[in-house]
Amino acid sequence: MAPTGADPLIVRQLEFLGGMASAAGWRPESSLPEIAFAGRSNVGKSSLLNALLRRRTAARVSRTPGRTREINFFRVNDAFLLVDLPGYGYARVAKSRQAEWRPLIEGYLGASPKLCGLVLLLDARRDPSEDDYAMLSFLAERGTPVLVAITKMDKFGTDAGRKRVDAIIAALELDPEQVVPVSARTGLGRDDLATALMDLVVTPDSERTAES
Ligand code: GDP
Repeated sequence: MAPTGADPLIVRQLEFLGGMASAAGWRPESSLPEIAFAGRSNVGKSSLLNALLRRRTAARVSRTPGRTREINFFRVNDAFLLVDLPGYGYARVAKSRQAEWRPLIEGYLGASPKLCGLVLLLDARRDPSEDDYAMLSFLAERGTPVLVAITKMDKFGTDAGRKRVDAIIAALELDPEQVVPVSARTGLGRDDLATALMDLVVTPDSERTAES
């Protein structure tokens, strides 16, 4: 869709820095602000990143065998790091595998003083999962600012879409201000999400409530 104003996120440079594979594993030096993306697998994260960055690089790297379970780091324009967390909720085979993302994500959060926000993706067609609830309460405990991108909105007409968004807001007790309905297919919400992201990136640390 044609943006109505200036593009809030023009990607001039996008560089893959590497992957973090375990809680105590390598991660790039923490120098730029970081924005992380999370959601259950198949939620449309790769597609949304493609739409957001207007590139296919990030999704391609994150799909490389061996990288799908890692946290992948990309430097965008020397302005911020985009952090692609592994999709969760697949291979739900036993209780013991529940929240298997947690140690890695905890390791990442513990080693990421520059994290300024996380975008949690939720599929408009599905009710939030236990992992989604767990992720949100975990981030709330840590005081990490969260944006919620509700994906695949093209599957609904305007009224039905609004109802789904309202239902998800109510179920998760979200602030409507933190919710951005999106569609990678139509481009809906791409600029709104980019604007919200860039607001998080430029908000000074002193104005954030995040724990250090
Ligand atoms: P990921 O596993 O979270 O990275 O999800 P993908 O981006 O690979 O998408 C998973 C599936 O959802 C694919 O079949 C996509 O074609 C589909 N999908 C992704 N985004 C959209 C969208 O905006 N609208 C619709 N209708 N389908 C989408």
